[in-house]
Amino acid sequence: MTSVVSGPRLLLRQLRETMAETLDSQDRLDKIVNLIADNMGADVCSFYVLRDDGALELFATRGLSPTAVHMTTLRLGEGLVGMIAAEAEPLALEDAPSHPAFAYRPETGEDPFHSFLGVPVLKAGQTLGVLVVQNSERRIYREDETEAMLTTATILAEMLSTSEFEGLIKPGSDIDLRRPRTFEGTGFSEGVALGTVVLHDPRVVVRNFVADDTDAEMERLESALRTMRMSIDDMFEHGDMQVNSIHRDILESYRMFAHDRGWVRRLSEAVQSGLTAEAAVERVQNDTRARMMRQTDSYIRDRLHDLDDLANRLLRILTGDGDMFGTKDLPENAVIVARNMGPAELLEYDRSRLRGVVLEEGAMTAHVAIIARSLGLAAVGQADSIVSVCESGDDIIVDGDTGTVHLRPTPDVEAIYVDKVKLKARRQEQYEALRPLPSVTKDGVPVTLLHNSGLVADLPALDETGAEGVGLFRTELQFMIASKLPRLAEQVELYKEAMDMAGDRPIVFRLLDIGGDKVVPYMRAAAEENPAMGWRSLRLALDRPGLLRTQVRALLQAAEGRPLKILVPMVTETSEYLKCTQVIRKEVERMSRLHMVVPSKLEIGAMIEVPSLLFELDTLLPETDFVSIGSNDLIQFLTATDRANRRVANSYDPIAKPRLRVIRQIVEATKRHNVPLTMCGELAGRPLEALALMAVGMTRLSMGPSSIGPIKDLILSLDLGAIQKKVNQALEGPEQVNIRALLKELADKQALPV
Ligand code: PEP
Ligand code: MG
Repeated sequence: MTSVVSGPRLLLRQLRETMAETLDSQDRLDKIVNLIADNMGADVCSFYVLRDDGALELFATRGLSPTAVHMTTLRLGEGLVGMIAAEAEPLALEDAPSHPAFAYRPETGEDPFHSFLGVPVLKAGQTLGVLVVQNSERRIYREDETEAMLTTATILAEMLSTSEFEGLIKPGSDIDLRRPRTFEGTGFSEGVALGTVVLHDPRVVVRNFVADDTDAEMERLESALRTMRMSIDDMFEHGDMQVNSIHRDILESYRMFAHDRGWVRRLSEAVQSGLTAEAAVERVQNDTRARMMRQTDSYIRDRLHDLDDLANRLLRILTGDGDMFGTKDLPENAVIVARNMGPAELLEYDRSRLRGVVLEEGAMTAHVAIIARSLGLAAVGQADSIVSVCESGDDIIVDGDTGTVHLRPTPDVEAIYVDKVKLKARRQEQYEALRPLPSVTKDGVPVTLLHNSGLVADLPALDETGAEGVGLFRTELQFMIASKLPRLAEQVELYKEAMDMAGDRPIVFRLLDIGGDKVVPYMRAAAEENPAMGWRSLRLALDRPGLLRTQVRALLQAAEGRPLKILVPMVTETSEYLKCTQVIRKEVERMSRLHMVVPSKLEIGAMIEVPSLLFELDTLLPETDFVSIGSNDLIQFLTATDRANRRVANSYDPIAKPRLRVIRQIVEATKRHNVPLTMCGELAGRPLEALALMAVGMTRLSMGPSSIGPIKDLILSLDLGAIQKKVNQALEGPEQVNIRALLKELADKQALPV
């Protein structure tokens, strides 16, 4: 290169050389502040580092009193430096001492300095420190000078996140970036996991910060932007959002940001100041993350999240990497951390190494949460902003019981959890002791306990819990983890294996319930505005009779003459259910014609999960051998709240009077028609909710295997009659009654474990 390098680009080169030199850590920092001061023509350059106790410690200075280094501290929010750290925004002042936030520190000797320019040193949106230049004369710092300081701060952030400088900090303290953090989210799946973070969508680690050739970096940036825009257009056209569980809204905002001039301009400016294209993306992204963390408006925060995701995509295009762990090559005790993910994505990970899942979003009845429960993983959702502050490889504790996540836990927190795990193991042993006892309430009401499952790997749990069978086998899970549509023979094999493993215990096989948030990657459907109410489940099956027939055929063959139970999902009207039973009966006839062995007994049932069916129960029930309530969908549709949308999913109590009345009405109808009824939604596995169900007369409950122990414990100590009477009274009449509170009170009277 023949061009004369000066200004910020020269500074970056000098910084790079200084980083490579063999120097003592403090000498290196001293040299850096000197270089910055010289380059900027400043009288003072100081670097403050945020400690984990919230104090900003003066780490190096040129121009202030050297004895103040490692002695002077400011609290977050205190003085100009504290304000910059707290707000993560640059600040330029012509006369700093006259600013109301100015805090005078006599030991620094900063009296004569008037003008002041400070910028936050950010990493992953978090403030690590503050970089300041000062001049004795009053002057207005130009915008390009602020820009140059921000660029320099990016490099300092990188240096700080290496361990080199940890030794400099006041003994007993640590640099804030690695501070332990606690997140209060919502428990999605019980259990405690102590493990290692695996970022589902890992941030790319930028290694090369300083550009050798700025023009070439500009070209790289532009080309990467072009590639990214094309890939977004592609996703739109091919409905890829279904595959990657990216919602259309998010894609819209990706597209908007990808063409956003302000963003592209900031990226270009950062490259012009001497950074590589990827370092420029990182710098601008830091700023976005910092804004995201301070944002309380959830809509704007979501959009900033989208911009963050987009920047990550751009980084990946630029560096061609990003994966620290693949989905198969996981560390032991992996805990997946993601903003959100679809169930199929979770199923891609090597299950033998998975221990937990943490999501920033999600909801209790979203399928990813259901899968986490079915895999026995501890899971927490709604852990706000966790993705931007953790790194793959960090230690993490997931407490699915309380919804708490401890990132980089301190040894004492870890010790508490090691104890908790031991305690849980002991409680598990107690539940195991209940296994041989019949599941009957104290006043003699038998309650059948069944598993929800969907993978053959779940079935050995039947032996562990002592459940009577599988009340819901979600056959679509197997379709979701396969790379292509399972063929007839493969399906036969799978269902046969499941039945063999269950032995005498019945399995209710539910026909494919795909659509909504259950995406089958190789079956691309057109994008829908409302997939939960779209072309899914039974609707899809009746439109694609080939698919339905193959599955039915596979089930009939797999039975090999044993009894078989088939459950039809998402029935909206009786006529639709009858169309499906017709397909099944025709398949049985075909087998008989071909002299193949048919099941010794075939029972077909319907799921009650679409409210319309509630008004047709007397028509439907005589046509069924059994029915099952899918409370996840039923409550979603009754209350018009998307089960996968965290903002609304928990807005209405599923056992509040109107909903519990609906369930009671179904119980009464099934009694009239003498049709067995099971609850297979998530409600059945939660003690107080299960109590509500039993109070209105439900005696068949299907749930995740880990809930069997606690629910059985409840049943064995329960005097149901007393509770039934009170709850049924409360359900009569027009008064508003808080059923949950009533149940809690009644349960406490009997000292029930709810
Ligand atoms: C339900 O809707 O409650 C149910 C059991 O089915 P899924 O959760 O698979 O939709
Ligand atoms: Mg359902």
